[in-house]
Amino acid sequence: MSTAIERHARLKPGYEQRVAQTVLLLQQAAAAHPGTIVLATSLGAEDMVLTDLIANHRIPVALATLDTGKLHAETLALLPKIEARYGITVERFEPRSEQAIHFVRTHGELAMRQSVDLRKACCGIRKLEPLSRLLAGKTAWVTGLRREQSGARAEVPFEDRDDQGRAKFNPLAEWSWADVWHHIATHDVPYNELHDRFFPSIGCEPCTRAVALGEDFRAGRWWWENESAKECGLHVSETVK
Ligand code: SF4
Repeated sequence: MSTAIERHARLKPGYEQRVAQTVLLLQQAAAAHPGTIVLATSLGAEDMVLTDLIANHRIPVALATLDTGKLHAETLALLPKIEARYGITVERFEPRSEQAIHFVRTHGELAMRQSVDLRKACCGIRKLEPLSRLLAGKTAWVTGLRREQSGARAEVPFEDRDDQGRAKFNPLAEWSWADVWHHIATHDVPYNELHDRFFPSIGCEPCTRAVALGEDFRAGRWWWENESAKECGLHVSETVK
C-alpha cells in the first residue's frame, strides 16, 4: 500500500511563499495576542504542519486538543510523538464524564447515527463544551481550515471572528492538500497513520471512515448525513451566528 506522502506530496508553484506567509501570519497573531492564543489541534495533517511551523519558528502559540473519548488509538498516539519531536506538550480537554455517560446510557453508543440532532448533541458534549474550556481566557485561536477542504469552507478567510467575537486565524486557508503533504514529507513531520489508510479527514472513530478514490475530502465524516449538515459546530463564525 502506498503512503499518504507518496500519494499526495507535490511541490506546487508558490509553496515557499505560502509557508512564509503562514509563518508571518502566525507571528503577527501571536504578537497581537500575547499569552492568550492557542492552536486547537485536531492532530490531522494540517494541524501537524502548523505544529511544525510553530515549534520550528518558536512562535508563542499554545497547543491544545479535544480528546473526545472517541478518538482512534492512532490519533492519540501522536501526542507523545509531538512531545518527543518538538518538546511541546499538547493540553488535552475531555468531556465531562457524567454528561458523556448519561448520554450513552440514554441514547446508546451509536446515537449519532440515529439523527442529526442526536449527532449534534453528542458533538455538543464531547467537542463544544470542552472547546469552551479550551478557549476560556483566550483572545484568539488558530485552526488548520483550508478552502479546498469542502464547499462549506470554500471562502475561509485568513482572519475571522468566532461566534464569541474571538479572533480566529486560518493561516493555511490557501494551502493545497499537495502543499500539506509536501511539507510533511520534507520536514519529517509526524502524522496520523490513518492518513496512509485513506482517511484524509479524521474525527472520532464512530464517525469517520476511509474514503474511496475520487470521493470528496470530507466524504468519510458523518457519511450517513447530507453534505450540508457535515460540520460539528466548532467552526461557527460571527457572521453566521
Ligand atoms: S464526531 Fe461523532 S463521536 Fe465525536 S463527538 Fe461528534 S457525534 Fe460524537
